[in-house]
Amino acid sequence: MEQVALLTEKCIYNDIDSIFTKPIHIAMTMANDNFLKDFLETEDMMPDNEEFLNTIKNYILTYKEKYNYDAVFLVSTKTNRYYHFEGIDRILTPDNAENTWYYSFLASPDEYALNIDNDEAAHNEIVVFINCKIKNKAGSVIGVVGVGFRVDYLQKIFKEYETQFDVKVYLIDNQGMIELSMDKTGFRKTDLFALPEFRDLKERILSEKEKCQYFWYAAKERKGYLVAKYVPNLEWHLIIDNDADVLAEQTKRQFFTGIMVLLMIVAPVLIVTTCILRGHNMRLVKLAVAEEKKRSSVFQVETGKLYENIYEVDITHNRAASEATESYFESLGVPRNTPYDEALRIIAKKQIKTEYRQGYLATFGRENALRVYAEGGDCLRYDFMISTDARPDYHWLRLTARIFHWDDDGSVRMLMYRQNVDKEKEHEQHLLEKMQRDSLTGLYNKAATQEYIQQRLLRHPGEVFAFFILDIDNFKNVNDSCGHAVGDMVIADFAELLKKEFQENDIIGRIGGDEFVALVRAPSREWAEKKALSVVTAMRHDVTDGVKTCPVSVSIGVALAPEAGAEFETLYKNADRALYHTKQHGKNGFTLYDS
Ligand code: GH3
Ligand code: MG
Repeated sequence: MEQVALLTEKCIYNDIDSIFTKPIHIAMTMANDNFLKDFLETEDMMPDNEEFLNTIKNYILTYKEKYNYDAVFLVSTKTNRYYHFEGIDRILTPDNAENTWYYSFLASPDEYALNIDNDEAAHNEIVVFINCKIKNKAGSVIGVVGVGFRVDYLQKIFKEYETQFDVKVYLIDNQGMIELSMDKTGFRKTDLFALPEFRDLKERILSEKEKCQYFWYAAKERKGYLVAKYVPNLEWHLIIDNDADVLAEQTKRQFFTGIMVLLMIVAPVLIVTTCILRGHNMRLVKLAVAEEKKRSSVFQVETGKLYENIYEVDITHNRAASEATESYFESLGVPRNTPYDEALRIIAKKQIKTEYRQGYLATFGRENALRVYAEGGDCLRYDFMISTDARPDYHWLRLTARIFHWDDDGSVRMLMYRQNVDKEKEHEQHLLEKMQRDSLTGLYNKAATQEYIQQRLLRHPGEVFAFFILDIDNFKNVNDSCGHAVGDMVIADFAELLKKEFQENDIIGRIGGDEFVALVRAPSREWAEKKALSVVTAMRHDVTDGVKTCPVSVSIGVALAPEAGAEFETLYKNADRALYHTKQHGKNGFTLYDS
């Protein structure tokens, strides 16, 4: 602002100075013109005819038209006549206030003076007059000549400054009165320093006639930068007022316009970019979702192959945790909205084989699930036998439950998987059986025999069983004479014989190299004796390895339960005593134990 003010001040100062210099020079030239001097000297002596008046009229008109002034005039001090381009306009008299300018100019020592006044001769226009004294050879003032141009012409120029430079221009006199501004003239005196923002600057501005001065001023009303310079030709001060508020307002407007333009550019760019990015993101999400759907459907199919059903329960709130689970329970005969623990009991009663119900309820009951979870566990598992409408015979099922915390509602939940484990159980059974069987004969081995016999005795207390111990006679001899392979064959054949002689439900085992045991339900002592005799008889034969022949026979000891013992140990001991008796008495026979 300061820099622009400096430049505009120079420019405006030169403009104004040149506007006024020319009329001053012209007025001075006229004042020194001998024609005018002669005219004034001889005016009173000349006849007042048209010819005489025409000379001065033409003189004035010539100047007026040549320089295009609004007023060119001449006043004679002798006659006080006021001449203009149409001849004599009026006679000036000191009693008329409108002639004050003339008398005060005559009284002043100045050669020329500027005066802003109402030009009565030119339709009461406000005009700047440049008045100049005409002196005779003796130095006495004989007249006043002057030119005038309309103030609105100057005001138009001031207005242009305002639009061009954003400044207000004032020309003030030595008292601070505005002689010329855009809207004021010296015709009606206005004090520039009556304005509050300039009040404090009066002294400094009016006292300086050499240098150009610059002031920042700030008042309540507004703020600005003032340039003041004295114009010697006019004896007025040129004041240029730069309104900072206007500049601030402009800057603000430009700033907001800038912001708006920026927004108008940035916003569409952002919108377009966002749209593109969002579209891209959506495509990515769609792809990811499609991928996930594909993956989860594959997962579901594969899981379905592994598990019969998967369902979810909310342990904390004692209910099914999903609609799928609710309908699954319903399909098992559980009415809708049944609490979980009740549903568990209904399912156990309806489907699960009696001996597994207790275990099933104890494992998957709420209490146990919450306890296991509280102890840091997260898995429950139980194998049981079940029958459903679809498969009325019992089959093996494994139920696995994963316990987890559901953050959304703070509940403890269980995902439960049902898995058919028939095949696994079958295999297990097969392995178990295999472990219990003797590989040569297919009969139970010693431990299994002992276990099963003990179990059978305990489960049927008081029932009559015959406990047989059977030992092949002189088996060592068979091995020695006919070879180990023949020995094996004798053992295997004997096992086949026993299977034939006894029922499938009877327990037959091989408890030593050539020693066997059987527990058989015996209707009577006689039956037991008959069975023993039958075995002894059937066993009696010869074997040969092709060279040597060996006789084969068996000795049997029998003890009857419960009279000779209710447990394996006692029965074995007593049957063994009976066997010993048989062996002592020639083998190839049997003895029934009798206390
Ligand atoms: P006893 O009439 O008193 O019963 O005499 P024994 O020769 O049968 O004598 P013992 O019962 O003591 O002998 C059994 C023999 O059976 C001893 C062993 O070498 C043989 N043996 C044990 N297991 C097998 C087997 O798996 N195969 C064969 N070939 N021999 C066996
Ligand atoms: Mg033997």
